[in-house]
Amino acid sequence: MADATVIDGKAFAAKLREKVAVEVTRIKSESGVTPGLAVVLVGEDPASKVYVGSKAKQTVECGMESFEHRFDESTDEATLLALIDKLNNDPAVNGILVQLPLPDQIDEQKVLSAIDPDKDVDGFHTTNVGRLWTGGDSLVPCTPFGCSVLLKDFLGNLSGKNAIVIGRSNIVGKPMAALLLAESCTVTIAHSRTDDLPGKCREADIVVAAVGRPEMVKGDWIKPGATVIDVGINRIDAPEKGLNDDGSPKTRLVGDVDYAGAAQVAGAITPVPGGVGPMTIACLLRNTVVACCRQNGLADPGI
Ligand code: NDP
Repeated sequence: MADATVIDGKAFAAKLREKVAVEVTRIKSESGVTPGLAVVLVGEDPASKVYVGSKAKQTVECGMESFEHRFDESTDEATLLALIDKLNNDPAVNGILVQLPLPDQIDEQKVLSAIDPDKDVDGFHTTNVGRLWTGGDSLVPCTPFGCSVLLKDFLGNLSGKNAIVIGRSNIVGKPMAALLLAESCTVTIAHSRTDDLPGKCREADIVVAAVGRPEMVKGDWIKPGATVIDVGINRIDAPEKGLNDDGSPKTRLVGDVDYAGAAQVAGAITPVPGGVGPMTIACLLRNTVVACCRQNGLADPGI
């Protein structure tokens, strides 16, 4: 089999952001409403700060309002819950995102449950989880939603395909499985206790890896011609790139799939970086526009 087609998530995300910007212009001109996204960050985690900065920048670039709320590490739960209540009742805020993880003194589930489900653009509220599994108008978690958009764009109709989702987290694995089931795939959900994972993978037309283990899924686990979606983002040492000033090895990002091996066998594959990663924020912006339309009785943006 020749090398797999590379599914370019970065380019696809750029196109999705353009569509979001067009919808934002339409919403503004038809209703005078500007969609708004509030992002809440507690603490100084460097990766979280980068994510929040990117989210705010891309929100503004799409013509939306961005509201940033930053708190220090010692902030208590009551302060955060009071802010969520205020944002729930603010008509200028259509989407609320609380950057995870939160510090230990704050009950993450309690905070996520306090968000108005109609403003829950991360799709983590149990009401949205229930709506997703029962076929309602949910807001769907951004990363698995992005994977399903890429799959549908590349494969068209997914009906009847065998799909395996490796990983069962609430953020990626479970909602991914729900989305594939909704597309009439036959879905296997694998996890750390799954017996003969390579054998189960080899039966799949679609493999979604969301494990958090660098390059775990090998080329000989892949059915020839299968479509492989690699959600993993893992930073590993890359001594071949040389050393940092402090003598530590430089690093590089890899997925949960052994890209070189899998690309020999698969029909199509997402790279890391540049595959699923860029889709996550684009889908967050899309969810904010969808939430804004629903809250204001406007036509569904259809993106
Ligand atoms: P979690 O750690 O929450 O879940 C990992 C899942 O993988 C668990 O269900 C676990 O099983 C399963 N697992 C672990 N080891 C194995 C194994 N050896 N064999 C089979 N299954 C295994 O991770 P997330 O779902 O949050 O994230 C997964 C990956 O996706 C990470 O690399 C993360 O960085 C990346 N990610 C990327 C995003 C993006 O924007 N592209 C967004 C979110 C995540 P069990 O339940 O049995 O423990």
